[in-house]
Amino acid sequence: MSVLDKPVRSRLVAPAEPRRARASGPRLALSSRVYLPACSIVVVAAVLVGIGWADHWAGADFTGSVTSLRVVVVGPLTLAILGVLLVVERVHPAQRRPLFARGYRQDLLYTLLNATVTVPLVTALTLSFSEVVTGSVPWLVLARIGTVPRWCAIAVIFVAMDGCNWFAHLANHRVRMLWRFHELHHSQEDMNVLTVFRTHPLIHVSYLIALVPGIVLVANGALPTTLLVIYGGVVAFAHSNTNLGFGPLERVFVSPNYHRIHHQLNGPQDVNLGFALTVWDQMSRRAMFPTPETIRADTGLAGRPLIVEQSTQRPRHLAVFAAQLVAPFRPIAKSGPVIEPGALGQPTVFPPDLVGD
Ligand SMILES: [Zn+2]
Ligand SMILES: [Zn+2]
Repeated sequence: MSVLDKPVRSRLVAPAEPRRARASGPRLALSSRVYLPACSIVVVAAVLVGIGWADHWAGADFTGSVTSLRVVVVGPLTLAILGVLLVVERVHPAQRRPLFARGYRQDLLYTLLNATVTVPLVTALTLSFSEVVTGSVPWLVLARIGTVPRWCAIAVIFVAMDGCNWFAHLANHRVRMLWRFHELHHSQEDMNVLTVFRTHPLIHVSYLIALVPGIVLVANGALPTTLLVIYGGVVAFAHSNTNLGFGPLERVFVSPNYHRIHHQLNGPQDVNLGFALTVWDQMSRRAMFPTPETIRADTGLAGRPLIVEQSTQRPRHLAVFAAQLVAPFRPIAKSGPVIEPGALGQPTVFPPDLVGD
C-alpha cells in the first residue's frame, strides 16, 4: 500500500458513512414494522398474475376456469362430501365439542374466503404458472406417448402431485417466511372438517409446484374434476374431528388419526406431512403412526403465538380473522410475551426451533 493510499481511501470512505447511516434508517424503521420477507410472496403472486393478465391468460377462459375450480372447492359434490363428514365427526369424535364451537365458526369464515377470494387468485396463479413453465421450458412438456394408457398417465399425475404437495408442505415448515403463512393452519384448536380451508390465500404460491406433473403429462391425460373433488374430500376428512384410523391401509392413506399427530399441541410438527398418501412420510422417516395417546390429543400452537378465536373473552371472529390474515407481515418477536387473550395485532413470536439464531 502506498503512503498516498490511506488518505485517498479515507477520503473515499469517510463521506460514505453518513450516507449509509441515512439509508439504513428508513430500512430499519420499515423492517421493525413489517416482516419484509413475507412481501416476497406478494411480489411473486403479483408478477405471476400480471404476466397472465397481460397475456390474456394465454387464451384460456379465465371465468370458466374460476367456475371449474369453484366446483372442486365448494361445488355440490364437495359440499355433499363435507356434509357427510360433518355428521361422521359428530358421531365418532376425537374430542367432544359443542355443535357450533368457536373454531368451527372461524373456519366457516375461511371457507367463505376460499370461495370468494382464494379461488380466483389460485386460478390466476395456476394459469400464469402453467404459461410461464410451458413458455420457458417447453421441453418439459412430453408429447403423447401412444403406448401409455390414459388412466396410467392420470395415476402418475395424481401420485406425483401428492408428492409435490408433500414437498411444498415440508418447505412450509422449514422455511421461516413460509411458516409465517402456514402457522394459521396449525393454530386451530378445534380441528374439524372445515379446517382444510383454514389457510392464508397467499400460501398457495408455495403449492404451485404441484402443477408440474400435470403440465409434463398434459398431452397424455388430465386429472378429472371428480378425482380432484375426491382428493379434496380425503384431505378434508384427514382434518376432521373424527377418531378413526385406517389400520394397515394407513401405510398408504392419510387418516384423521394420522394427520392429527401433525397438528398435535407440543408435537413434532414436521412429521406426517402427507396430504392423501403416507408413503412420502415413510420414505423420509417422518411418519408417526397413531397411538392411544395421540388419537384424542389437543391441537394448536403452544403459547398461542398467533391470535386465535379461542383466546378472546368474547367471540370476535371478524377481528381475529383480520388479525390472522395480517399476521405473516408483522415483525417477528424472538422473545417476550406471546399474544395475550384479547390483545390483537401484537408481533408474532416465532417457534424457537425455527428461529435461525
Ligand atoms: Zn403443516
Ligand atoms: Zn393440516
